[in-house]
Amino acid sequence: MKGSLDFAYDAQPMRVVFRPGAALTATAGEAERLGLRRVLVLSGARGADTARAVADSLGDACAGVHAEAKMHVPVEVAERAVELARSLGADGCVAVGGGSSIGLGKAIALRTGLPLIAVPSTYSGSEMTPVWGLTENGAKRTGRDPAVRPRSVVYDPELTLELPVPLTVTSGINAMAHAVEALYAPDTSPLIALMAEEGVGALADALPELAAEPRSLEARSRALYGAWLCGSCLGATTMGLHHKLCHVLGGTFGLPHAETHTVVLPYALAYNAPAAPVAVAAVARALDAEVAPPALWELAGRLGAPRSLAELGLKESDLATAAEQVVSQAYANPRPVTEDGVLALLRAAYEGTAPV
Ligand code: NAD
Repeated sequence: MKGSLDFAYDAQPMRVVFRPGAALTATAGEAERLGLRRVLVLSGARGADTARAVADSLGDACAGVHAEAKMHVPVEVAERAVELARSLGADGCVAVGGGSSIGLGKAIALRTGLPLIAVPSTYSGSEMTPVWGLTENGAKRTGRDPAVRPRSVVYDPELTLELPVPLTVTSGINAMAHAVEALYAPDTSPLIALMAEEGVGALADALPELAAEPRSLEARSRALYGAWLCGSCLGATTMGLHHKLCHVLGGTFGLPHAETHTVVLPYALAYNAPAAPVAVAAVARALDAEVAPPALWELAGRLGAPRSLAELGLKESDLATAAEQVVSQAYANPRPVTEDGVLALLRAAYEGTAPV
């Protein structure tokens, strides 16, 4: 470490249990620790079987299962879930699944203050943040509120064994994006930098193994460990240009969440590289590469992930509108965010040309 130190750091208060099998063997104990007796279990339609198994493990402490989580938490989906929680007299929620299920649990917590236990099955990292999101009339609003932060997180690598390889790769790179932006965030700190580098390294190590052998519990454990660290980085810092780009592309143009992060990250990092040399060097070390942005692009290509916004369905005629929206309410960023700069970044990401 060189130079004088100047930082503030808030420790994240969530409790974390990490163990194969923990979804079915540890969730009930976590509910008991929190004094919960009538828990509503949440999931998406595809995760309903796992949610029911978790519900069974809760025994009498389960008040019901609600398998209606949807991507980006539409407001009407949140309202129905809040009504159900109230009508059942629920005293807490357990969200089983990816960022969409956890997002629904956060929406309930935001409206009711009910405590949330998260049992993640992807690498989105939402479980480690106080960030909520709600979508209304095609526009996504996000905010930070300590009330939505899960009280307890149960990480079970066995839950991720069936995560399809394409989603494993893009969800893992989505997690890396949290760590990358945390490294150059205005409120970064030495502990965050350690977690970010370790998190990117764990995922960079595990993802190629998982692409070849998706049911390797050992590689699943390492990937989920990386996702925990990267999610912790997101929860503790302010998001930058990369996340703003993805929020606009997902919110306004309906592009899929993890895939969009995967395509945009190399270009966002290349854009910020001149203004954030220490962060880029840390990412390169974690990837065991000379230069981080092309290494991220190469990793995505090697693992069969999409590498252009055109592949994700964006139209060339949307680029100017997207650039305008990104600049109109720019997030904090190490390099000034200009409309020309963002348009050039988006054009390169649209075409999928190698970043430098
Ligand atoms: P997701 O939760 O929508 O899951 C994607 C798909 O994968 C779904 O169809 C789901 O059923 C399936 N799936 C999930 N786990 C699986 C498993 N183990 N095996 C097989 N299939 C599985 O997507 P996501 O990428 O996890 O989360 C994206 C959402 O989370 C977005 O709305 C995003 O904005 C939000 N998010 C929020 C934060 C935050 O801090 N608030 C952070 C990251 C993401």
